[in-house]
Amino acid sequence: MKHRFLVNSMLGSLARWLRIVGYDAEYRRDAEDDSLMEEASRTGKVLLTRDRVLALRAKKRGVETILVEGEGDVEQLGALAAALGLELDPSNSRCPKCNGSLTQVDRDQVRDRVPEASLEAFDVFWVCGSCGGVYWRGSHWDQIASTIEAADKLSRGENSKRL
Ligand SMILES: [Zn+2]
Repeated sequence: MKHRFLVNSMLGSLARWLRIVGYDAEYRRDAEDDSLMEEASRTGKVLLTRDRVLALRAKKRGVETILVEGEGDVEQLGALAAALGLELDPSNSRCPKCNGSLTQVDRDQVRDRVPEASLEAFDVFWVCGSCGGVYWRGSHWDQIASTIEAADKLSRGENSKRL
C-alpha cells in the first residue's frame, strides 16, 4: 500500500513536496510527542521528524519513523524516496496547502476563480475538495518539475550505492 505520512514541526516544506508528488502528508507543527506517536501508530502513517529523541522513542514503540537529517527540499525528498522506495509522481498531486484531494476540472468550472490570462493559456485545472484551492501548471511548474526530478535522481543514486 502507498505510504502515508505524519510530519513533525520544521518539515512543513517536505510535507508540501510529498503532497505534490502524490502522498498523503499531514503536517502537525505543534503536536505533543505522545499524541504524534499515538496518531502514527493508530493510523499506520510513517512519522517524519528532525527530533532524534522523538525518533528513538517512536521506534521503540514500534512506530515506523524516519529521522530526516538532510537540508533543503531536494536532499530531504530524495533521501526519503531512497529510504522507502517512493515513486515521485506529480500526476497524482494532493493539495500542497491542506493535503486535500484534487479533482481535475476544465476551465469552464473555474472561470470565476482564475485570472483571464491563465484561463486562456492552460487547459487543465485542479480543484481541492477540502479548501477549494484552484491549481494549474503555470510558469512556476518548470521549477517544481526540476526539483522533483533532482530528488528522484538523488534517490536512485543513493539506491545504487547501497547495492
Ligand atoms: Zn486544499
